[in-house]
Amino acid sequence: SILVTILFNLGEMATATESLDEATFEVLGVELGYKVQMVSPEDEDKELLEGFGLDLEQELADEDDGDLEIRPPVVTVMGHVDHGKTRLLDAIRQTNVTAGEAGGITQHIGAYQIWTEHDGHERAITFIDTPGHEAFTAMRARGAQVTDIAILVVAADDGIMPQTVEALNHAQAAGVPIVVAVNKIDKPDANPARVRQQLTEYGLVAEEYGGDVMFVDVSARENIGIQDLLDAVLLTADAGLDLRANPNKDARGVAIEAKLDKGRGSVATVLIQSGTLRVGDAIVAGTAYGRVRAMMDENGDAVEEAAPARPVQVQGLNSVPRAGDTFLVTDEDRMARQIAEKREAAARNAQLAKARKRISLEDFTRA
Ligand code: GDP
Ligand code: MG
Repeated sequence: SILVTILFNLGEMATATESLDEATFEVLGVELGYKVQMVSPEDEDKELLEGFGLDLEQELADEDDGDLEIRPPVVTVMGHVDHGKTRLLDAIRQTNVTAGEAGGITQHIGAYQIWTEHDGHERAITFIDTPGHEAFTAMRARGAQVTDIAILVVAADDGIMPQTVEALNHAQAAGVPIVVAVNKIDKPDANPARVRQQLTEYGLVAEEYGGDVMFVDVSARENIGIQDLLDAVLLTADAGLDLRANPNKDARGVAIEAKLDKGRGSVATVLIQSGTLRVGDAIVAGTAYGRVRAMMDENGDAVEEAAPARPVQVQGLNSVPRAGDTFLVTDEDRMARQIAEKREAAARNAQLAKARKRISLEDFTRA
């Protein structure tokens, strides 16, 4: 058959059930005289939302400088397994200095915000509490970029390892600036200079070597250098990033993690990217929709409203969104539901189209 011939000429061993990659489809289209247009899921969703009069990019472009207020940086901790990501996130969590909170941060809701004294001011930093670049990549795959700064954790006794390189590749591909935390400096065989040396080969040159990347020696276990690391994050944010958002509009953001809770139903930790989220808002997150019934912060306290870069756990969605699903507040409940239903339908259609493609290829092959 012609299809198989073309495929064969393209060097693809076409079998009946093999699915084709996008590039192959495009070439195929040209050969057969069709214009093949690949529509990414993000473009499709953008169009879907435009059908409801929602153009989020336009909305951002229309914003006045005066609408924008400084927001905290959002930080992800990445690095090789066992280099101390979890321990470091715990150590940072314990530095929280919010006045009047004795116990500090107690709940694991997928993200937390700490307050720290920097240059004479109280400043907030938001941390994504699921370490590793898998979460980072999963979110990026859904078109969501939540991270402003990546902390790359490298154990000083181990030096750079395969996942160190992977992590820094992901951050660099996303254009996210890196702060290097050289961890485990309490260990007798720690060699922080070697880490700096090794990372120059990957374009991460320490300030003390004439580069522009901040390296901070820390021990997550012994609580050494944690404050310096937080300062480095804020210095990096202030030096090159214009982190501002408009808090005075309906909230938009991203689901960080979500689960089904026995008593509370669907609980989703969302990160507000712009606007302010309030209890009572109609909200759609991916294909989940509902009304914000209650919100909780990382201290387990009820929250009435959440501003940009604030992570909160939301109750009231009818189902569980996926990590990386974007969310937005709508004027009416009905609109949130309709957007969710249209997305469901679009996902079903995409599934069907995929199955059909396979079947028609099968038919071609038999002919
Ligand atoms: P992750 O896989 O990157 O999340 O690493 P973990 O945070 O689970 O740490 C791996 C191991 O290294 C654990 O046994 C930690 O207690 C230990 N560890 C983490 N940070 C330090 C440190 O600063 N010094 C020492 N000596 N051990 C550490
Ligand atoms: Mg861990």
